[in-house]
Amino acid sequence: MLYLHIPFCKQACSYCNFHFSTSMKTRKAVLNGICRELELRRAELPQGRVPSVYFGGGTPSLLTATELGRIFDVLYAQQYIAPPEQTAPNLAQPETGLPEITLEANPDDLDEATIQTLTASPVNRLSIGIQSFFEEDLRFMNRAHNATEARAAVEKVTRAGFADVSIDLIYGGQTTTDEMWAENLRIATDLGVTHISAYALTVEPKTALGVNVAKGKVPDTDDAKFNRHFNMLVDHLTTHGYQHYEVSNFCLPKHESRHNSGYWSGQAYLGIGPGAHGFDGVRTRKWNVANNANYAKALAEITSPEDYAAANSFLYETETLTDADRYNEYIMTGLRRDVGVSVSELKRLFGEEKARYFMKSQQGNISAGLFHDVSEGIYRLSRAGIMRADGVGGDGFWV
Ligand code: SF4
Repeated sequence: MLYLHIPFCKQACSYCNFHFSTSMKTRKAVLNGICRELELRRAELPQGRVPSVYFGGGTPSLLTATELGRIFDVLYAQQYIAPPEQTAPNLAQPETGLPEITLEANPDDLDEATIQTLTASPVNRLSIGIQSFFEEDLRFMNRAHNATEARAAVEKVTRAGFADVSIDLIYGGQTTTDEMWAENLRIATDLGVTHISAYALTVEPKTALGVNVAKGKVPDTDDAKFNRHFNMLVDHLTTHGYQHYEVSNFCLPKHESRHNSGYWSGQAYLGIGPGAHGFDGVRTRKWNVANNANYAKALAEITSPEDYAAANSFLYETETLTDADRYNEYIMTGLRRDVGVSVSELKRLFGEEKARYFMKSQQGNISAGLFHDVSEGIYRLSRAGIMRADGVGGDGFWV
């Protein structure tokens, strides 16, 4: 799997702590670096085509047709993906055997020209950063789009033929009333999107929102509202045919994000671009410097895979996971998914001792009703358990 981080945004959303810059000064140099990095690191993934490519950010929908085309040319040349056949519909669903190629897009970028660029490219899944269909929420979050653009974006890409459209929504924010959240959910399902990712508005310290909350200019978020909105979310989407396949992710049947499911099941992926993270599928994580100028400068000076290997520390850092880290991650990602944690898999991957430790650690949570029936050795969280997934997972951690 391949993740490409496009670290540019038109403006800073008040709650965002991803790596991005609103300055376009390094844009050309960063894109050169991304193309270079794709060449230098090809051998880190097995030969053969990748099952999925994900353009995340930042705002990948800011890429021009020329910039996007240049990246795809490198993906073909390095055989990450096959060039599309002239006759193949690029918007076909992943079931056709094509790799899943997702691009994150913001509603204000989805004008007719950009949609045309995307339909003519191999991108076959869009993830649109809607967040809310209400002006008041969007202004509070300092989003670049308005409520009209939010709805129109989904309608336009659906009309253009994209069969896989995901939207992001944010709940529990200071401006979002229960009625507004119910309406956001109603609009989302009326639009017929195939996938919805919904996140609670988190107040991160180094963001504009975090600073305003710390100064008392804005009230903090409210856990009771988070719980109410989460319950409304699950009730509404599951009664409208969506499968709740991960704590924050819902899809119509057969429209799971293959890329994200790959992360959660421990697949190897390459993280390309400033601030991008990767994993070798075994025990090594690697992440690039989260600074556009330093990233571009480092890549401009590297001419061979040997130079790349020596660039460690100013271009990227690595971390080797211990057995305990791997076990803990397995528990957490398993519990967050509808597949749950299988005791026989735990035994196979981590041994008898850790499997027994996990079962013992969850006895209290079973009695508290946080799991469905575990008699067959599969630990799946109940609704009450999902609402406390991090705590339940933490109870099972090996320390
Ligand atoms: S568009 Fe996305 S990445 Fe950019 S500031 Fe907003 S939330 Fe962050």
